[in-house]
Amino acid sequence: MSDEPSSATSYQDVLAALHGEPLPFTPGTSKMLRFMLEREQGCDAEITTAGLTVWYGEGGSRYSMPVAPGVVSFLRAGVDLSERRHLSQRMGPAIVPEVGGFPAWGFGSRHVRLDVTDEKILIRIRTSESELSALGPEVPIEGRPAVILDRACPHCGQVPERYRVLSDGSLVCLACGRSSSP
Ligand SMILES: [Zn+2]
Repeated sequence: MSDEPSSATSYQDVLAALHGEPLPFTPGTSKMLRFMLEREQGCDAEITTAGLTVWYGEGGSRYSMPVAPGVVSFLRAGVDLSERRHLSQRMGPAIVPEVGGFPAWGFGSRHVRLDVTDEKILIRIRTSESELSALGPEVPIEGRPAVILDRACPHCGQVPERYRVLSDGSLVCLACGRSSSP
């Protein structure tokens, strides 16, 4: 155990944070979340055994692993991801209080999607739900009402098994992942 690299140990901590107890909120976690949530352009992030990488548009930045469990713990917002491996939810607007000398900050309404695969955790943050659903059908998003409709998707022409219903009423085809008006 003691000769394991610390990054591997921390990835186990990340997996534990997907369904475990809330973690203590540290100044480092608050700073990392501010980078991820404050920008209106959103971001993509990936956590693997190699660490936490965040893309703000073009380039990715690698951050130290110790903040990753706290980031996951905050973004899952109490939802147990041990069985529900995909989560899409709205967060904010919210104020994050000062912690350990790191000042309070705030973020507007954000849509956060977490996809947990065997090798990594993908995090996508956007200001609108439709931007998240436009990212593709590779993984189902749980926790959203779905309806069975006998109508073909205007994008792919298929009649999908189900349509997912977004909060604005638009329908996401579960065959191709694109949305259309109701
Ligand atoms: Zn379709």
